[in-house]
Amino acid sequence: MAMFGALILVIAVVGFILQPVLQGHWASLRQQDHEMTEAEARRRVTLLALRDAEYDFATGKLDEKDYNELKRQLSAEALAALVAADAEGDVDALEAEIAEAREGLRQGAICEACHHRNPAGSRFCGACGQPLEVQEAAGTP
Ligand SMILES: [Zn+2]
Repeated sequence: MAMFGALILVIAVVGFILQPVLQGHWASLRQQDHEMTEAEARRRVTLLALRDAEYDFATGKLDEKDYNELKRQLSAEALAALVAADAEGDVDALEAEIAEAREGLRQGAICEACHHRNPAGSRFCGACGQPLEVQEAAGTP
């Protein structure tokens, strides 16, 4: 009787495991549109690394020599990734992103204490916490 119970259990478990296959839920092997291309992924990783380097420099974990070296390497890598992404036909998204970044830089506030560049609308420095000079409106001289 215990044997019979074990058999039922095994059938139930195997059935549960094979359920997606039996129901015909196969994973697509083709790349989906929303999936990142390799160049896109590399570019994001590089940009994140650049941001981390900025942060480490701002908080004093990196000295200026190391920071400059790291920034030079990462910038070169980001540029290479940008070129690769460009070659993959991602031009529109890239241009939109560049325009967005440019807009963010134009409106962003640079900390006077640590020179960290903060996103537009920031009231305190994201790196050192210093209050930032509040920009009244975009376009004000
Ligand atoms: Zn700061």
